[in-house]
Formats: sequence, C-alpha cells, structure tokens
Amino acid sequence: MPLPMQILAIIYVLASLTFIAGLKMLAHPKTARRGNLIAATGMTLAILGTIFLFRYVEDGTWHSLRHLEWIFLALAVGTAIGWFLAMRVPMTAMPQMVSFFNGMGGACAALISIMELEHVPPAPGEYPYLTLGVAGILLSTLIGSVSFSGSIIAYGKLEGWISGKSIRLPAHQTINLLLLLGILGYGVWLMLQPAHITQWAWGMLALSLLYGVLFVLPIGGADMPVVISLLNSFTGTAAGIAGFAYNNMAMIIGGILVGSAGTLLTILMCRAMNRSLWNVIIGAFSGGAATDEGEKTVRTVSPEDAAIMLAYAQKVMFIPGYGLAVAQAQHTLHELEKLLRDRGVEVKYAIHPVAGRMPGHMNVLLAEADVPYDLLLELEQANNEFPSCDVAVVIGANDVVNPLAETDPSSPIAGMPILQVYKAQKVIVIKRSLSPGYAGIDNPLFYRENTYMLFDDARKALEKIVKAVQEV
Ligand code: NDP
Repeated sequence: MPLPMQILAIIYVLASLTFIAGLKMLAHPKTARRGNLIAATGMTLAILGTIFLFRYVEDGTWHSLRHLEWIFLALAVGTAIGWFLAMRVPMTAMPQMVSFFNGMGGACAALISIMELEHVPPAPGEYPYLTLGVAGILLSTLIGSVSFSGSIIAYGKLEGWISGKSIRLPAHQTINLLLLLGILGYGVWLMLQPAHITQWAWGMLALSLLYGVLFVLPIGGADMPVVISLLNSFTGTAAGIAGFAYNNMAMIIGGILVGSAGTLLTILMCRAMNRSLWNVIIGAFSGGAATDEGEKTVRTVSPEDAAIMLAYAQKVMFIPGYGLAVAQAQHTLHELEKLLRDRGVEVKYAIHPVAGRMPGHMNVLLAEADVPYDLLLELEQANNEFPSCDVAVVIGANDVVNPLAETDPSSPIAGMPILQVYKAQKVIVIKRSLSPGYAGIDNPLFYRENTYMLFDDARKALEKIVKAVQEV
C-alpha cells in the first residue's frame, strides 16, 4: 500500500476517535459545543485526507483522485448552503433542520451505494452478483433512500407545507408491508441477474423513495421528532453499510455511531412518552379532540399579583415547556430567576425529558440564556421537591404537567410520567388560552383550586412580572 494510503488509515482512526469523543461530550450542555467542534474537525480531516491522500488501482498502477475542481465546487456549495441555513434557523425550527440534514445524509448514502455497484467485480460462477458486497450496496440504497424521502416529508410536515395530521391510504399498513417485501424481492432478483444490474438498481431506488414517503405520511406532525430520530438511525446504518462496500473505516465507525445513537434516542423518546415505537409509526397518536371545558371555572392572576406571590415566596420552581420556546422567553425567565434569587428566594427549574418538541429542548434553551446547570432538576428530583414549593410557575407547558396521565387510564398520555406541579402550595400557569398542547387533551390542572392562570404570551407575561417584582 502506498504511503499516502497508510497516512490516510491513521487519519481515519483519528477521525473516528474525535467522533466518539464528540458524541460523549454532546451528552452535557457544558461540553456539547466543544464536542461538536471536535467531531467536526475530525470530519474535516477525514474529508481532506480522502481528497488528497486516497489512491486507487487502475490498469495495475496507483492513481490519485481526479476532477478535484468538481469536488471542491460541491464542497463550497454545500458548505455555503449549510452555513446559511444553520445561521438563520430559529431555535423552534431546529427539528426540521436536523431532518433536512439527515435527509441529505440518506441521499448521499443511497447515491454513493448505487454508484459503487458499477465497480463491483463479478464473482466467478453462475450468479456473479450474488455476493455479500452487492447485498450490502442494495441494502444501503434502500435504507438511504427511505431516510431521504422520509426526512423530506418530515421536514414538510414540521414546516407546515404538508398537513401535520396523519395522512393514510385505505389499508395503508398492508400497502407499506407489501411494498417493502416487493423492494426486498426486487433486490434479490437484481442479485440473481447474470449481467450488469446498475440501471435496474435505479428502479429499486425509486421504489424505496416511495416507501419512505408512505412510511412517514401516516405519522402525526407532533410525532416527527421521534421519526426524525428513527430516520437518523437509518441514515447511520446506510452510511455504515456503504462504508463496508468502500472498505472505509471512518464511514463504518461514523455510521455505527450515528445508527446506534439514533436508535437509543428513539427508544428513550418513546419511553419518556410511555408509547411503543409501533404506536408512533402507525400514527395512533395524531392528536385527539380537546375535551369539553363545560362549566369548569378557572382562577386568573395578574402579573402584579403573580409578582407579589413570587417575591414573598421561599421556594419557587419554574416548569418550562414548548410555549417558552415559541415565545423565546428563556432570557426573561432567567432575568426573573436572578431577581428572585437576589431577594433570597430559592429558585429551581424542573425539566421534563419530553418538554418542548425535541430531546433536550429545554436544556438547550436555558443553556442559551446562561441559566446555571445546578438549578436544573430532573423529573424525579423535581417531583420530590414540589410539596415543599410555595409557588410552581408553569411557562408554556401543558402535557408534561397534566395530571390526567396519572388519573385517566383512557387518556392518550396515560402512564406518561409527569411533573407533579399540583403538589406545590400554589401553581401559576402562563399560557395564552386554555388550548390543549401536543396531545390535544384538556388539562384538569388549570381548574384546580390552587392554580392561577395568567393568560398571555410567555415573554410578555414574564416581562410584566419582572417589572412588577422590581417594584415590590
Ligand atoms: P405542550 O405541547 O403540551 O403545550 C405547550 C403549550 O404552550 C400549549 O398548550 C400552548 O398553549 C402554550 N404556548 C404556545 N405558544 C405560547 C406562547 N407564545 N406563550 C405562552 N404559551 C404558549 O408542551 P409540553 O412542553 O408541556 O409537552 C411537550 C409535548 O410534546 C408532550 O406531549 C411530548 O410527548 C410531545 N413531544 C415531545 C418531544 C420531545 O422530544 N420533547 C417529541 C415529540 C413529542 P396556548 O396556545 O394556550 O398558549
């Protein structure tokens, strides 16, 4: 093996190490940014190393890569688009952004695989393409294409271009199953051909794209983060398999890391919502109807009265939810927290694992506002502390504090662990109306005797409370 290829092998090992270290560091908000940078540096190294050091054999001699101008043009265009999108994306649109990038990864894996088919040397014997290598390439084409088209549909649903409701054909799941079996059969047929199969492989790619669309359409818009995480694991798997076809270690390790991280995240999200993955996939939870509010009464509170409750409390717990992200109220919330702490009030934040619309959504928002990490309590810790809280302030959260999860076995959120804010002495709920949240169900918390509703946009309400606390 020529020296440049030996150096490249070392670069791939280094790159793989940065992926592992980066992934580990992403687990904590304090180190996440650095982890991301470290992994990105490793990826840049692997890309540049491949461009300049990769050698291949043709006509018995080693050659370096040709058409570098095209490679650099593609790199420049991709970097510019990625940079532009990442700089202007609002925090609330992050899930669709991730979905878009994931879709691009899937498309790459599928296209790389199908191109590689041309280069597979036929094996001796009656069936020259019935080999593990070709099986891997076809599988990567299938998974990558599903990931691409599925991610684009997920993107469309989250952006509101496609209805967020469950869209299904009659006998949708049967059609999906038959289509999947058909694609697998098509793959086997391709492998049994005696000659070139490349042009026919495009048919498999097209059918797989269709499958990706039909796979995601029945899933409700609000379930998209789970689906995106699942598709992310598909992309990783496809890239890993493509890595085998190329015998590229960095791709194999990177693919395995993405594949397993995506799978674990999917499982954790389903667990935190107390739902099975199958339940998500068949679109069984696309939002029920809000229950009739009937004659139930709610107590409201003004920002000024809320400020007095908070300023004279000993212990206050903030419970952020999706509405905090929508209102971009994290900085104002932090300001209120600092004001109260300066007055000697003990303030903490209760973080539900699925509050918001993506894993770690609240952690990211609060980190952006420089809220100290040691003020953040996980679900169990927070539930232990609610009985000793004078005031629990729910800011734009709904499902994650809905007691129906504990009391109504027929509720769509039955069994989901919730933040038991109702155990606090007093509860202030800041939201714009009595509208339901993601699960589409009413929340009895709003009608309890110790609950006070403050109907307003989260940021505006918090700004008014901050002003009033300053005047107390
Ligand atoms: P919810 O979706 O239950 O409720 C959010 C509430 O925020 C709404 O009721 C809305 O009420 C209010 N709101 C919206 N905009 C504003 C605003 N500008 N100011 C104030 N309030 C606002 O959110 P939760 O965080 O409690 O729960 C998350 C839900 O999402 C869970 O059901 C979870 O299972 C689900 N989910 C979470 C995922 C994750 O990874 N985190 C992934 C997939 C699903 P109003 O309109 O009256 O203001």
